[in-house]
Amino acid sequence: MTADAAQTRAATTPVACLECDLLVDLGPLAPGQRAQCPRCGTTIAASPKQGLHRPLAFALAAAVLLMLANVYPFLAFKASGLERVMTLTESASALYDDGSRVLAALVLTFIVIAPAVLTASVIALLVPLVTGRRYPWLRHIGRLVFVIGPWSMAEVFLIGVLVSFIKIAKMATMLLGPSFWAFFAFTVCLTAALAALDRHYVWNAIEGRDA
Ligand SMILES: [Zn+2]
Repeated sequence: MTADAAQTRAATTPVACLECDLLVDLGPLAPGQRAQCPRCGTTIAASPKQGLHRPLAFALAAAVLLMLANVYPFLAFKASGLERVMTLTESASALYDDGSRVLAALVLTFIVIAPAVLTASVIALLVPLVTGRRYPWLRHIGRLVFVIGPWSMAEVFLIGVLVSFIKIAKMATMLLGPSFWAFFAFTVCLTAALAALDRHYVWNAIEGRDA
C-alpha cells in the first residue's frame, strides 16, 4: 500500500445509510458535494457550501423569535363580552388548572422546554465549531441535538392550534397574538437550522476532521 492510499483509507469513515443500513466508506467531501448511497440512492452526507454559518444564523434567529413568542400574547378569545388573553406558557398552566395535568406536562415539555433546549444546544454546538474551537463536551451536545431534534413538536403544535382556531372561531371571536407569528417564524427557522445540519459533516467538525 502506498503512503497516499494509506492516508486515503485513514481519512474515510464508515457511515450507515439511514434508509437501507448499507455501510459506506466515506472520504472527505468538497464544499457543496453530496454523497449518495450506492444501493438506494439516498443522500448519506452533504458538505454545506457555507459550512455551519447557515444553520447557526437560523438557530440564532430562532432563539430571538422563541424569546418573543414567550413574552407576547399567543391567543385572545372574546365571547359574551368576556375576553381572555393567553401567553404560550399560560396555555400549559390553563390545562393544569383545568385538571388535564398530563396534557399540561406534555405541552410544557414538547412546546416550551424541548424547543428551547434544542435551540440552545444547536447554538452551543455551532458557535465553537464555527469559531474553530473544539471542546470534549461538544460530543455530548452533538448527541443531544440529534436525539432530541425529532422530538421537538413545534410544527405539530402549530397545526393543532390552527385546527382548534377554526373550530372555536364559530363560537367565539379569536385573535392570533404577536407570539403566534413569532412562534410560527421560530418553527420555520428551527426547522431550517436542523435541515442544514448534516450529521456526518457535524461529527467530522466535532472530531476535528475535514468534512
Ligand atoms: Zn441506502
